[in-house]
Order: sequence, then C-alpha cells, then structure tokens
Amino acid sequence: MRVSTTLPEHRTAAVGTVGTVGATTHTEAPRGTYVVRTLGCQMNVHDSEHMAGMLEAAGYVAASPAEAARSEADVVVINTCAVRENAATRLYGNLGQLAAVKSTRPGMQIAVGGCLAQKDRAGIVDRAPWVDVVFGTHNLDALPVLLERARHNAAAQVEIAESLQVFPSTLPTRRESVYAGWVSISVGCNNTCTFCIVPHLRGKERDRRPGEILAEVEALVAAGAIEVTLLGQNVNSYGVEFGDRGAFAKLLRAVGALPGLERVRFTSPHPAAFTDDVIDAMAQTPTVMPQLHMPLQSGSDRVLRAMRRSYRSDRFLGILDRVRAAMPDAAITTDVIVGFPGETEEDFAETLRVVEAARFTSAFTFQYSPRPGTAAADLPDQLPKAVVQERYERLVALQERISAEENAAQVGRTVEVLVSEGEGRKDGATRRVTGRAADNRLVHLAEPAHVVRWHAPAATADGGLPDPRSARDLPDDVARPGDLVTVEVTHAAPHHLVADSAVHGGTYRVRRTRAGDAWAARERARSGDEEGHAHGAAPSPSGPVLLGMPSAR
Ligand code: SF4
Repeated sequence: MRVSTTLPEHRTAAVGTVGTVGATTHTEAPRGTYVVRTLGCQMNVHDSEHMAGMLEAAGYVAASPAEAARSEADVVVINTCAVRENAATRLYGNLGQLAAVKSTRPGMQIAVGGCLAQKDRAGIVDRAPWVDVVFGTHNLDALPVLLERARHNAAAQVEIAESLQVFPSTLPTRRESVYAGWVSISVGCNNTCTFCIVPHLRGKERDRRPGEILAEVEALVAAGAIEVTLLGQNVNSYGVEFGDRGAFAKLLRAVGALPGLERVRFTSPHPAAFTDDVIDAMAQTPTVMPQLHMPLQSGSDRVLRAMRRSYRSDRFLGILDRVRAAMPDAAITTDVIVGFPGETEEDFAETLRVVEAARFTSAFTFQYSPRPGTAAADLPDQLPKAVVQERYERLVALQERISAEENAAQVGRTVEVLVSEGEGRKDGATRRVTGRAADNRLVHLAEPAHVVRWHAPAATADGGLPDPRSARDLPDDVARPGDLVTVEVTHAAPHHLVADSAVHGGTYRVRRTRAGDAWAARERARSGDEEGHAHGAAPSPSGPVLLGMPSAR
C-alpha cells in the first residue's frame, strides 16, 4: 500500500456533521462497525470516547463486545501510549494480531492514533504496512475523513499536526459510562520533567474557559451522570493561559455547586503548584471527594532536581499534612519512579522514607527505562536492570504493607458506594457487586440474599438476557450501576475492601439515583425495550453521542 502523508490544512473538515449530530443517534444504515482499543492513561481513555463519538457521527456503530474481543470490526482504532515502557511492543503486538484478522476481512481498516502515533508517524506504516491511517494527538478530528481517504485512494494516510487543531472536547463523544464522565479542563503541559515525553507529544498547556467546562458538566448531568472527573496533565496549573492563578480552586467550587452532581474528582495535580486554595476548595465543597492523586516520583531531592521537578520532599509531605488536616479521611495515592539515572542507594532510601511517611492508600510504581526523545534518556549513569528491579521490589513490598494497613483501618466503617459496571471481574462468582467509595477505594459488597437473584451477570450485548436490574419495577433494595449503596466494611485487602454487612442483616441501604435510571434506560434500549426504538434508531450501546462542548456561557 502506498503511503500518502498530508498536511492538516489540506484536509477537508472531518467533523462537518458535528453540529447536526447533537444528542441523537445516526439513523441511516450503518456504515460499518468499529472498535477503539485504548492503551494508556485516562487522557487516552477520554480521547477514545471522542474517537468513538466521531465514528458514530460518521455513521459507524460499535461492534458487539464479542466481536470487539475478536477484533471483528470494519474499523479498528488503536489509541496508543508512549509513556509506558512496553508501549511499542504492545502496539506492534496488537497490529500483528490485526494483520491476521484483516487478511480474512476484505475492506477492514486499521487506524493508529494517540501519543505513539504522534511520535512515530509514518514509521508505523513502514513497520506495519497493513495500517490504513495514522493520526496524532492534535488532530483527533481527522479520523473519519482519513479513513474515507485511505479507502478512496487505496493508500495509507498519515496525518500528524504539530499543534492542537481542534480542542478534543468540542468533538462528538461516545461516553463509556452513563453515571460518570471525564471532562478535560486542559490539554498539554508546560513542565519539562526530564523523564516525560508528554509535553513533546501533547504540546503546551491549553486551558478551556470555565464556562465551556461547566456547560459540558451540565450536559453530562442532564444525560444522567452524577460523577465527573476533571482531567488535565497538570490540573492545578489550570488558568495559566488566561492568567488566573486561582482558577482551579474556583473551578472546583463552581463544578461542585452544579445541581445534580454528587461526586467531583480530578487528576492529576502537580505538587509544585499545589496551593492551599485548592485544599480549601476541596474541603469546603461537599461534592468534591476526599481523594487526591499526588505524584511523588521520587523522595530524593537530588533526583527530583535531576527530574526537573521543582518541589522537594518536605514540601510534598507538607501538602499531605495540610490535606489531611482539612480532610482527615482523604485517600491519597501517588506515582513513583524507581531507578532514575544516577539514583543511588541513598536516594532510594529517601524514596522509601517519604513513602513510609506519606501513608499512601496505593501507588502506581514504575521502573525507569529511557524513553527516546526525553532528556533523561541521554543522562549518564543509567542503572542496570537488576538494580532497578531489586529496588522496585522493595518499594512494592513497602507500599503493599502500607496499603494493607490503611485499608485494614477501614474495617468497621460505613461507606457509600457508587455501584459501577465492569469493575468487579469476580462479581459473578462471588455474588457481590462492585463500586467506589467516596474516597475512590474499590469496594466489593454483598447484597441481602433476597436481592442476589437480581445481579445475575448481564448478557445483553450479544443477544443474551437483559440485565434484570434494568427492569422498570424493581424491589427497593436492588441497586443498579449508578445507584448508591451504604454498607459497612467487613474485610480489607491491599487493593480493595469487602463490605458484607448485608449478609448478616447489617447495614445495607440503597439510594436510587438519576444515574441508575439512566443506566437502566440504556440497558433497556440495548435489549430493544425502549421507546426510542420505535423511531428506527439503531440500538446504542452507551447512550447518545453527546457533543463535547455545548454552547459556551
Ligand atoms: S507534569 Fe511532568 S510528568 Fe506530568 S505531563 Fe507534565 S512533564 Fe509530564
């Protein structure tokens, strides 16, 4: 296949249908099926929602979960990550599998987007010539038109923009969840952490105006959501573009005050710019959840300096003290990198010291490995793998102990759990349902025996029985995804809590929510038992396509 590389300004508008899609589903015969596979972080998960939204706006429909698992779709999009160590291995592993599928499915198209696409560009088609489209982080909107052009020209299309063309939030969005949604407040990052490729691939920070963000959250709430997570590479620097240093705290208060919203979260802040006005806004806004993800990266001041992260360990621990003084029950999580170039045993001991003192609920721990294109990749004193591995294991063991201790302290507490969908992989076997406590801890909870029959595994998408919880008339104590259940924690493990209080007649209270109603309506639509289908619209697996940015205020 030939490769045609075009400049963004040469393309026609990819999202010409945006203005007419609104909150409707496409009513013409489907153009084909699609799957979007996401590798990477929450940013990518949310970008995948935009990719799915654009494909649906262009007339594609989601493949069923079973088809998706077999990659049997007319369009398969891989949204790549360049941050994780094995990102390229995973991409080319995925592409190798897809080559075999494509050889049996004439007309199938494969598109690669996201950070690795932004970085490797036409190199992806050189290495995997069966790829049809490569698009970057700045031009998500180009996906449908590039697919069309690749088909028309019978040539791979590689289109990478050097700066943001369209703010992703303005694109159509196929939300994965009806009860909780991601909302980008900014894209890009102005920091220069030496291990990180993100600024290179996502560009300088661009902030959305508060009115646009509030309008998007309101639209999500109107569609049924009761939880939002505000997203940015560095959320607390929000406002830098329009010169308001207090903008993030104000935004938290404003979002938290929106009627109908019950839970507000955000990720990720940066310790260097984390100011007390944000802590005050968290503590004083009841809907902002007592949870904070605060990336440490290293406990050694010397290593932090080499990482070009401008806080020091005492400042970091000071932030945690102030957060806990204001919100004693806050669950604080972190990221830590082990084995940064030049890290000595003394430096690593500092990391262990800070991790011990910080009492994180959990930590994402990473072994450093050089990423081409980052400053740290060229530093001397890259550490041998065996050294990094051994330190990593010590760090993980320490954090596992702390996580177990912190979770054990939750036993006996009463928690309100937002029931989720797809988070409890063993729910069918354990006869529990799963969700998140206010502090974002994962909770597996038991229902009373007379309710258990309602939580048989859902099997709607492939023609199985509808989930019984989607029925219009339910017993009062059956909780659906999106509903809130109050239970008592009875058991703890390092990575989850168990709340079996209902088994012995203890605490179990269900609070039905609009989000649960929205989930049930979506499930009924999936199984064809919904008014909307009288109009001939194709069943929508995840609710309507929402415009990312309703009218700005
Ligand atoms: S703050 Fe540092 S680690 Fe985070 S995205 Fe920006 S450069 Fe990367």
